Amino acid sequence: MSEVHQNTSAKLPKNTSQIRRVDVVVVGGGIAGKACALGLAQLGLQTIQIAPDLEQTIAVPQGDQWGQRIYAFSPSTQKLLAHLQIWDAIDHGRMQPVRDMRIFGDRGEKQDELHLSAFEAGTPQLAWIGESNVIEHTLDQASRFQNKLERISDAVENIQVDWDGVSLHLKNGSAVHAQLVIAADGANSPIRSELGISTKEESYSQSAVVANWICSNAHLETAYQWFLPGGDIVAMLPLPNKQVSMVWSTSPENAAELLKLDQAAWADTFSRIAGGAIVTQLGELRLNSAPAAFPLRRIRASRFIGPEENPKIVLIGDAAHVMHPLAGQGLNLGLRDVATLLNILSKRESFRLPNDKVLLRRYERQRQGDTSALLWLTDKLKKLFSASSSTERQLRNWGLGMVNRSHFIKRRLIERALGDADFE
Ligand SMILES: Cc1cc2nc3c(=O)[nH]c(=O)nc-3n(C[C@H](O)[C@H](O)[C@H](O)COP(=O)(O)OP(=O)(O)OC[C@H]3O[C@@H](n4cnc5c(N)ncnc54)[C@H](O)[C@@H]3O)c2cc1C
Repeated sequence: MSEVHQNTSAKLPKNTSQIRRVDVVVVGGGIAGKACALGLAQLGLQTIQIAPDLEQTIAVPQGDQWGQRIYAFSPSTQKLLAHLQIWDAIDHGRMQPVRDMRIFGDRGEKQDELHLSAFEAGTPQLAWIGESNVIEHTLDQASRFQNKLERISDAVENIQVDWDGVSLHLKNGSAVHAQLVIAADGANSPIRSELGISTKEESYSQSAVVANWICSNAHLETAYQWFLPGGDIVAMLPLPNKQVSMVWSTSPENAAELLKLDQAAWADTFSRIAGGAIVTQLGELRLNSAPAAFPLRRIRASRFIGPEENPKIVLIGDAAHVMHPLAGQGLNLGLRDVATLLNILSKRESFRLPNDKVLLRRYERQRQGDTSALLWLTDKLKKLFSASSSTERQLRNWGLGMVNRSHFIKRRLIERALGDADFE
């Protein structure tokens, strides 16, 4: 996308009757965009979703084949998907409930452990682990049956914000006009940059290496996370059929080395790190997917809606915020954006259009606290566990044990991990 125009008709097709007019356009075809488009259409708003990859059929992995993109889904996400009436349609044979989380410090001492338990928290599970494709496939199916939702497989080239909405010009030469535009166009959001919305960005100088493993020991429905000396973090998330999904955050150089390892070299690596605790816990690990690496960074947009004087645009998902995956919360946070937006639009006063400034400001206000708190927490944890001084090392390990002994803090932590989708 190359240009944004404010209050100008310079780029409009000559024959303005060619422009389709709808209530809302959602730009972006990731999970946040798909969930948002479906939810808006379910509210009765005439919705168009636009993204270059919408025509692609999402391949649902079958049998022993498991997808590469595995996510931890929080109860707030479950609540949204249930609200969209797709939670029960998901193949639950491919979703693993998490009953316990065990987080280990980097000194290898027994007391440096934080244990969060669903049983202690009085909840059936703390999260679910599953494949991105399973959720996307189910969203695609539900969208096909939604007659208020149309999908266009194309890229947005430029937008014009007007007094009554936004005109979007697509690569194929066509144009659409919407009262409200939802930017769900990812971490590099072209809409965000074209609107001139500034961001606070920081590279973590780390990549996450992900891979699925079959383990010889039972994983006990537990998500494990080891902080390693030097700042690496290894998470092993449980999947059905004695599998675990690994997320290893490490330097880009080490990530490149890890991608080259064969099965024997991986076994050797696991036996050496975390004092051998990974192997003690999970047994022998057999690779069950090709490892892949993703660069890690933190991004926060300065605004979650368009320009003050004429917003008309809402940012959701990674277009608004990107965080370190150590807490497995990036997408969950994006889906809470969706829940909040749907909640505000569904309860709007009858005299307000979906693009009413008051509603958009309400959305931005409601999303600021949750976003800031999670970005702050993940960032501080990441930095505390990367610091090399002996004081910080003692502090972080002592902190894990201290939190573990405090039922009050543990409860608050679990409440934050569970999140709360904004439905009443
Ligand atoms: C290693 C790793 C592990 C993670 N684990 C977890 C986890 O366990 N739990 C969790 O909640 N989160 C996790 N995350 C975060 C999660 O991956 C992201 O937050 C999530 O994928 C963002 O979804 P999105 O829909 O906002 O954006 P995206 O999935 O990036 O989608 C953006 C969409 O916009 C489209 N687009 C871009 N430009 C245009 C244009 N000009 N016109 C039209 N369309 C356009 C793209 O084609 C794409 O469809 C993890 C991240 C990483 C890196």
